[in-house]
Order: sequence, then C-alpha cells, then structure tokens
Amino acid sequence: MTPEEFRIAGHQLVDWIANFRSTLEERPVMTTMGPGSIRALLPPSPPSEPVSMQTMLDELDRVVVPGMTHVQHPGFLGFFPSNATLSSVLGDLASSGLGGLGISWQSCPSLTEVEEVVCDWMRQLVGLSDAWKGTIHDTASTATLVALLCARERATGFTARTGGLQSSPTALVIYASDQAHSSIPKAALLAGYGAHNLRIVSTRGPAYAMTADALDDAMRADIDAGRTPAAVVIAVGATATTAIDPVAELTAAARSHGAWVHVDAALAGSAMLLPECRWMWEGVEGADSLTWNPHKWMGTVLDTSLFYVRDTEELVSVLATDPSYLKSSVDGQVTQYRDWGVSLGRRFRSLKLWFQLGLDGVESIQTRLRRDMANAQWLAATVADTPNWQVLTPVPLQTVCVRHVPTSLAHDADALDAHTLAWAEAVNRAGLTYITASKLDGRWMVRLSVGAEGTERHHLERAWASIRQYAEHA
Ligand SMILES: *Cc1c(COP(=O)(O)O)cnc(C)c1O
Repeated sequence: MTPEEFRIAGHQLVDWIANFRSTLEERPVMTTMGPGSIRALLPPSPPSEPVSMQTMLDELDRVVVPGMTHVQHPGFLGFFPSNATLSSVLGDLASSGLGGLGISWQSCPSLTEVEEVVCDWMRQLVGLSDAWKGTIHDTASTATLVALLCARERATGFTARTGGLQSSPTALVIYASDQAHSSIPKAALLAGYGAHNLRIVSTRGPAYAMTADALDDAMRADIDAGRTPAAVVIAVGATATTAIDPVAELTAAARSHGAWVHVDAALAGSAMLLPECRWMWEGVEGADSLTWNPHKWMGTVLDTSLFYVRDTEELVSVLATDPSYLKSSVDGQVTQYRDWGVSLGRRFRSLKLWFQLGLDGVESIQTRLRRDMANAQWLAATVADTPNWQVLTPVPLQTVCVRHVPTSLAHDADALDAHTLAWAEAVNRAGLTYITASKLDGRWMVRLSVGAEGTERHHLERAWASIRQYAEHA
C-alpha cells in the first residue's frame, strides 16, 4: 500500500470507526454469537486476491462487530471500565503510523524520551513524589511479574539471577489478600516462587481489606518455619469489590521483615487523578513499586499500564541484558527501557497518553471520573432503598456489589446462588446492560461497575430497570 492509497483507505476507516462509535448505543451490549459461530463466518483458507478497503470494512460489520461484547457501550457495567477514548486511539494510530522500533535508546530516541516525560507527567498528575521513575508496560500482569522478579533478587542478595531459585537455601514467600487479582498468583508462578509459597491472607470485615496484624502473623509463621518473606502485594482497589488495603500499615509490617512492597492499583490508579481520592493510597511513598492502568477507567486504549519503581538501579541490575549488537556510545547516559521489563521490542505507547492528555485535557478526564463516582453512589443508594435488594460492600470508587434476596430464598444459600446466576445471565441476554457475577465469601453476587466513557445517569436508570425486571420476575 502506498502512502496515497493509505490516505484514501485511512479516511474510510476513520469514518467507519466514527460511525461505529456513534451508533454503539443501538446495539446489544453483549454479543449474541455462540461459540464457533464467528469462525464459521470466515473462509477456511486465506484470501488469494487483494480486495477493496470497502470489502474489508464490510467484513468488520459482518464478522467482527456482531462478535463483540461492547465494553465501549454506555450500558456496559461489566468487569471494569475498559475505555478506549478516541483521542488515545489517534495516539495509537500515530504510534503505528510512525512505525518506530524501541529496542534501545538509539533505535528511536524519541520513543524513550517521550515515554520518560509522559510517565513523569502521569506521576505528577496522581500526586506521587519525584522519587518514582516510570515506564509503560502492556498490562499490570507484566508489571507485577517484574516487581516479583525484583523482590526475588532482593530477598536472595541478587543471587537468584545467577543461580536461579535453586541457589536460595530457604523458600521465598509472597503475600497478598484473598481479594487479590489473579495476576498475582500468575506472577508468583512465572517468577518461580511456586503456588505453595503464595500466602493468601484472609480479609475480615465489611471492607475486605488485609490487616497489618494478619499480614504480620503470616510473615512470622513463615519466618519461624525457616522461610523468607520476599514481597507483599497491596491492593488499592481489589478486583471484585474495589477493596482498599491500608497501604501505610501494611508497608510498615512488610518492611519490618525486609519484604519488597508492590502496590497494585490497576483500576484505582485512575482515581488518584482526583486529589480527594488520594487518601486511598496514603503511605504509597513507602512502597518499592506500583502499577496502575490508564487503560481501564482513565480510558487510554489498551495496552497502557504504568509501572513505577523507586530504585531503578536495582530494577536494571535484575533485568539488564547486554547483547553486543545493542551497544552504543551513549550507554550510561540514557534510559534503556528494555532493561525495565520483559520484552526487547517496544511500541511507542506513550503517544496514546500524550494524545489523550493533549486532546481531551486532564480536567475533562477528572470531571468524567467524578461523574462516575457520583453515579455509583446514586446507584448504591437506589439499590439499598429497594426492598429485597442489598449492597454488600462499601463503594469507595465506582463498583457496586449487589444481591437480590427474595424472601423465599433468604435462608437457602444454594438456591440464592442459582437465582443470582440466573438473573445475571437473563439481564446480559436482554442486551440493555452487561453485568458480571462474581463470588464474595464463597457466594455469588453481581458487580455493577460504573465508568464506561459514555455512561450517563439515564443509562444507569435504564440498566437498573432491566436488572429489576429480570431479577424480580425471574
Ligand atoms: C485489571 C486488574 C489487574 C490486571 O490488569 P491487566 O492490565 O489486565 O493485567 C490487576 N489487578 C487489579 C486490581 C485489576 O483490577
């Protein structure tokens, strides 16, 4: 494709995307396609002749769009907000169009240096001190893996890097709460700790937070048994309930046993753009590393996960590799982001953030986050005021955890579970909204996660009416 052909086809694609976004509301939120039905729409063998751009766009309409659950839909209340603001989509297009290669500073200096500056802008915007240095990973899962690799090295005096975990005379242990995200067991697995060395600390009480006492007890028990606490992963906004672990107290407990402290604020990091929310990670300056995802609520299109550390030398000493073909005369004066993570080749991800901040402006983002938090409070109050409905956990952010408890099922937990799953499924099939069922204390509940970019109060009123209809008349 020549640049002139791209100019014409690109305009067609941009028009198509604008139409798609502006008509999203007319579509069902959840796809109605069953397993395998999308594969069946595609020819079994690859195209042999080129086709027109219009044909490709028709294929998007025919094959792709019907097979999507529309997380950009204003009725979407599932999982977590996974916004892809169009300003950041333009940054993504710029990144792809430039086609830069980030394997070293020299391979694309602007890729490295814009990322350094944008990460520093983001640091300022969430009120972190300048002791933190950041990079952009694909996901929080990668960021947490990197954090646990660093923790492994610190706990072994930097010997696991050479001798592997077999060089450690004692088992190294990771701690996280029973509300922690599945990326933490995954990272513990990949970093070589082993599932038996992940301590799941039980949370108690209505807020589902890990307490410093419980953490300290778990760490002492391991030390008494000859094991070494290596890292504590603190959740600021845990996945199911947005539970908020007390960062300052947990950090003090972790420190007293020499463990690395990693803060997982994947969802809640966006809220730190609001000064009034920063109490939620009070004490974060005592941590060693932290991650949060602008690609969730803030709305920078995937994959944009920020990872910050305080000691970059420690990080680089764990992850640096020095192949001769990447040596250059500027080594030592520049940042080599390949030594901050897993991948060698990197995309120009910072453009997505830069475009969003530049084109939308931080104030409009803050206004939207405040709107969502107010909407979540409205929804929680509305649910709590409705007979036979319960709000199960506090609502510090934008997620409301609910259960419908008909009087006839109040004392039959299994039947109540079946009822919850049935109405959640019926609501999703109806297509006005999309919600996620999840377990809390071993029992099913439904999470209503407010925060899609287009969700206004009237969408929530409509979603709530649909939820009541299917739950109360199931
Ligand atoms: C979404 C989420 C993650 C995982 O994020 P990815 O970027 O998809 O890896 C981790 N932790 C928490 C608390 C989350 O909400």
